[in-house]
Amino acid sequence: MTTSEIRELDPQTVERIAAGEVVERPASVVKELVENSIDAGASRVTVSIDRDGTDGIRVTDDGTGMSRDELKHAVEKHTTSKIRNIDDLESGVATLGFRGEALHAIGAVSRLTITSKPRGGQGTAITVEGGSVTDISPAGCPPGTTVDVSDLFYNVPARRKYLKQETTEFAHVNTVTTSYGLANPDVAVTLEHDGRETFATTGTGNLRETVLAVYGREVAEAMCDVPEDDVPEGPLDTVSGLVSHPETNRSSREYLSTFVNGRYVTAGAVREAVLDAYDTQLAPDRYPFAVLFLEVDPGTVDVNVHPRKLEVRFADESTVQDQVETAVEAALLEEGLVRSSAPRG
Ligand code: ADP
Ligand code: MG
Repeated sequence: MTTSEIRELDPQTVERIAAGEVVERPASVVKELVENSIDAGASRVTVSIDRDGTDGIRVTDDGTGMSRDELKHAVEKHTTSKIRNIDDLESGVATLGFRGEALHAIGAVSRLTITSKPRGGQGTAITVEGGSVTDISPAGCPPGTTVDVSDLFYNVPARRKYLKQETTEFAHVNTVTTSYGLANPDVAVTLEHDGRETFATTGTGNLRETVLAVYGREVAEAMCDVPEDDVPEGPLDTVSGLVSHPETNRSSREYLSTFVNGRYVTAGAVREAVLDAYDTQLAPDRYPFAVLFLEVDPGTVDVNVHPRKLEVRFADESTVQDQVETAVEAALLEEGLVRSSAPRG
């Protein structure tokens, strides 16, 4: 076979390649579905995983739900109720999703059933297999939405081959679900694995209670408040949340969670600033627990990054770092845990 000939790919192949950009592994499906539930105003979101997640992922919420027509649109390509055009994107998006590609992409590489009912409306179930709608019919269900994804990557064997063992895939699911739980203390987030509950947050809006639910008592009791009013002038309007006593630390950065306007992000600069605040209190390669909320004018951060990439960059990175370090230092100082550092400059 000659490889130098240039051929047009058949539409199905194009679809599956595009879907792979959004859906890399079971955890990416969970991320998209939980984001949709939160965007739908849910106060309760339950994630249930069978084995490594390729067998089954179910996300149930009590959000707005969808009518039969909305369901049909929701699984089509580039359909979203969240933005209308690029101007909406430029002025800053308040929702977690906006690309309108997740449900379509998931449907292209799995068997997908969505059962949904808007408040006061009729329930409907729609089934998509390998990208085609195979059924849409009335269904009895409570208000809200349940999304069932099974046989993930059944038609993309190459992708399936790259998945890791069940423990690794579930660990990714756990990380994703935990971060949405921490980011949304007012939403009761539950994770179940093979029918057993991994964690369940209460949804009462209390951050410390949420930390207790996901990380346990030892960590919850070691958390210090980051007071919201201790931020010097800069791009960030506020920095708030909880950081752990230096003695409560781990060898992984995974427990250092930062949220920019409620969106889970990894920002190297922010992480560095947190560690700087601990000064010499932490041994090298040890990391604290932190749940930090950074609020910034939505017009000044670019969220239009790759769907799977979580890095954000701030225009004025060094001032942001200063703001975060000062806020975290204030929290530790309050507890008498660090010496007040000499003024900079
Ligand atoms: P996006 O989230 O980028 O808009 P999705 O493909 O994830 O794109 O979802 C398409 C649309 O389907 C959403 O804009 C929303 O209107 C609707 N939708 C998806 N999930 C839910 C849900 N759990 N509850 C209510 N509506 C939903
Ligand atoms: Mg979405």
